[in-house]
Amino acid sequence: MNDKRDKTSLRLSLIDNAYDSLNESLAYVETALTDHTRWKFAVLNLVHAVELVVKQRLHDEHELLIWEDVDRPGRTAPLDKALVRLKNIGVGVKRPELEAIRTAIRWRNNITHYEVDLIAEEVRENYLLIFEFLDSFHHQHFFGSLSDRIDDSHVQTAMDLVDSFGKEFVEFRGRPMHRRWPRLLVAAQETKEFIFQNFSYARLPWGSETHWSTWMKDDSPLDYCPDCATAIHEFHGPNCDQEECPRCGGQLLSCDCDFDEDPFWGLDSVALGELPDAP
Ligand SMILES: [Zn+2]
Ligand SMILES: [Zn+2]
Repeated sequence: MNDKRDKTSLRLSLIDNAYDSLNESLAYVETALTDHTRWKFAVLNLVHAVELVVKQRLHDEHELLIWEDVDRPGRTAPLDKALVRLKNIGVGVKRPELEAIRTAIRWRNNITHYEVDLIAEEVRENYLLIFEFLDSFHHQHFFGSLSDRIDDSHVQTAMDLVDSFGKEFVEFRGRPMHRRWPRLLVAAQETKEFIFQNFSYARLPWGSETHWSTWMKDDSPLDYCPDCATAIHEFHGPNCDQEECPRCGGQLLSCDCDFDEDPFWGLDSVALGELPDAP
């Protein structure tokens, strides 16, 4: 960053770059329809656009707020830090959106093409949620509609995304969730154990984990799991990042315990296949 740059040109570089990243992201969405591995770049560019609008909002509050160390301007704050700062100035980002952005940051850092192909549907849903967030955040904090900043060639794609969000997401336990999710949660209750090398391990329902503390309020867990929205004493949904592995005590999603092929892991595709047409 050039310190001599004045406030106006910095403003232009942040918000205009955000629009550029958004347009680039939409171009990747278009190619992702035929090549699922493109979702990675669609997400990467969308998260970059979010990062820039968040920093623009911080900059509008006070120009020093965009720096990682406000006493030593030079490097801008990373997105997760910028989001915390945003909250500290009274602009709260709701938890589902925050979770969607954090998940996308994780994907941005780690995900391979191969993995994107495996979880393309999940990446797409997350994309819809973040896109919706960007749209409403821009509407709330900046002049003019976000759609005015979208190139003509991508306008239809953006409209389709807004349309898909409206059709596919429902209010569930106080937050937007994909409409197939409540049914998946019900189905996930049927899997009460995992089999590992012929031994059965009872699954741990939300609230009975031995080591999670991140999402506790006082000494008790939140009413609903912050990732999959399952209720206390119920089992988590497939691929929830809060489920504890009953064998090693680690995060089931990432631990090395390779449970036997189980219908539980197929729930996602099963429920997806049964999805009725949107009203
Ligand atoms: Zn969960
Ligand atoms: Zn494990």
